[in-house]
Amino acid sequence: MIISMKLHSTKEEIAEVKERIEDFGYKVHSIEGEQRVVIGVIGVGDVTACLEALEAMPQVEKAVRISAPYKFVSREFRQTKTEITTGNVTIGGDEFVVMAGPCSVENEKQILESAEIVARAGAKILRGGAFKPRTSPYDFQGLEEEGLKLLDKARRATGLRIITEVMSDRDVGLVADYADILQIGARNMQNFALLKNLGQCGRPILLKRGMSSTVKELLMSAEYIVAHGNPKVMLCERGIRTFETVTRNTCDIAAVAALNELTHLPVILDPSHATGKRSLVPALARAAVAIGSDGLLVEMHPHPEKAISDGAQSLDPKQFAKMMEDLKPYIELWKQSRIEEAVAAV
Ligand code: PEP
Ligand code: MN
Repeated sequence: MIISMKLHSTKEEIAEVKERIEDFGYKVHSIEGEQRVVIGVIGVGDVTACLEALEAMPQVEKAVRISAPYKFVSREFRQTKTEITTGNVTIGGDEFVVMAGPCSVENEKQILESAEIVARAGAKILRGGAFKPRTSPYDFQGLEEEGLKLLDKARRATGLRIITEVMSDRDVGLVADYADILQIGARNMQNFALLKNLGQCGRPILLKRGMSSTVKELLMSAEYIVAHGNPKVMLCERGIRTFETVTRNTCDIAAVAALNELTHLPVILDPSHATGKRSLVPALARAAVAIGSDGLLVEMHPHPEKAISDGAQSLDPKQFAKMMEDLKPYIELWKQSRIEEAVAAV
């Protein structure tokens, strides 16, 4: 069950509702929204009686039973898409948002050049890893705080917002000091200590699907973050492991449509890690727009042949600009269908 309190409920009113819930033998799990307190209820008991009793309380706006195991993130809980705003960019609204940049922040020149290139082509958010999850311990591990400082510099120079990965619960505070959006990588999708830490970090989160994780597991991981106090979560399909070897991963494009049915959280597609090949990125980006994702996370490097990581899947500046140009008519159709959906929802 999820209980939404009326706006501006007092502490006493909230305490009264919690007490009533506990009278029925349930456990209370509250999340304080920015505007409205929402109380999650877990346990076993007489649901119908409890719902009836709560709905009769004047300070309760809505009490709903949620059958999915993921509660706060399910469509049953909220029918309209969650909009996540950072600066002048909103993800999940009426804008298709492109996040682009190199796999790793390598040096000042590289990240400043990247920022200018992606901004000029229409991206709103700069990506770049300062903490890199590498398969080999001998590979480049990222510039860490120095990389975060360079991202900040690029933000000041271009006005772009910044998304970057955090790999450990120890670093959440540090990365949140610099980044506008924290990225949780595929390898950490089920790092529960890290997920719990994101609850109070005060920043939106982009949660990438684990390479062998189901859509339901992805949603349960998102639920961890929301249940710990942070409702600003977006999900990212980045390909999963299969027997196929032509592409680096297999893009589960249907997962985007499925997620749009199952959750109100915004859904982003990463065509770079999903394919591992730059030649395939623009086609998959078009598919992302057509299937109704809320944006893209794309790798672009000023000189892909010199990239320290993921050069083979990084677009060069020309290819990136062309992809952005070619997406425009598709994005126009995307906008129309967003308007139609909004009208149908009224
Ligand atoms: C990345 O975005 O550079 C990255 C490491 O992605 P993933 O976690 O999806 O492998
Ligand atoms: Mn990468």
